[in-house]
Amino acid sequence: MKIVFLGVGCGMPSIRRALPAVAICLKREILLFDAGEGVQLQLQHAHLSLQRITEIYISHLHGDHCLGLPGLISTMSLLHRTKPLSIIGPQGIKSFITNTLEMTHVEPKFSLKVKEGGKAKLPEQSQYSVETLPAHHGVPALSFVLRMAEVQGQFNPEKAIHIGVPRGPLWKKLQQGRSIRLAGTRIIHPSEVLGPSRKGASIAYSGDTKFNPELAAAARGVSLLIHEATYTNELKEKASENLHSTAAQAAEIAVLAKARQLALIHISPRYENNLQHEQEARGIFQQSVVPNDLDVIEISHPVSKED
Ligand SMILES: [Zn+2]
Ligand SMILES: [Zn+2]
Repeated sequence: MKIVFLGVGCGMPSIRRALPAVAICLKREILLFDAGEGVQLQLQHAHLSLQRITEIYISHLHGDHCLGLPGLISTMSLLHRTKPLSIIGPQGIKSFITNTLEMTHVEPKFSLKVKEGGKAKLPEQSQYSVETLPAHHGVPALSFVLRMAEVQGQFNPEKAIHIGVPRGPLWKKLQQGRSIRLAGTRIIHPSEVLGPSRKGASIAYSGDTKFNPELAAAARGVSLLIHEATYTNELKEKASENLHSTAAQAAEIAVLAKARQLALIHISPRYENNLQHEQEARGIFQQSVVPNDLDVIEISHPVSKED
């Protein structure tokens, strides 16, 4: 599973860092988290088709996180998209989309579903679920936790042969999780030839928030925590006034959550490079990275044994 950091900056776009947007690339679809201005060009730089995006999660309606959204929908419409698109965001997202599309004369022909998320868990998808929870940022704001479904255990050909199932279509049925009946014998269940099911990958996305232990609880054991770290610790007070986090606070959330890996984004333009963030976070949580625009993190799905 590939995570592409399209933009890791905040506030205003700069040559160094684009505005927040993270693409989570699944087998056939892309889930987009935040859509800062310039997201379309960043998708092109990353060679990701915007038509593969099926769901967009907007953390809150500060301009740096959502002003790329109307342009994105407008281009999808220009390209005669037919695939439905779901957008999940905080209170106000519906009127933001309705008004900007109306004022810019965009009339999408595809189905556009917009959901204003509260604390509710979204209906279980077949492949994954996404939990939304409130972030602490002074305006309605959300954090998200994506969990991929468990993956069926590995097929054991030796066991199948030992039980007497001939190689061929019956193997396929068992691999698909269906029971079979061998001529003149008993029913054979998939559990007899499949290993234990494997845990799916999981990703938490903080959006903009001050230190929030509730996020750590919701994100327990995630493969990757993507957390905002607008500042480093010498600006701790400023972070708390502006309802943002420091690199150290993000790392503390990763420790509390027992996350496998931490990626810091939403870096203030005042920082010329990522060194300070990296050092500060790694002092608390070793598995911390501070990606640049267009960097990619691959995580294993299902989660590998070493994880
Ligand atoms: Zn922001
Ligand atoms: Zn914000």
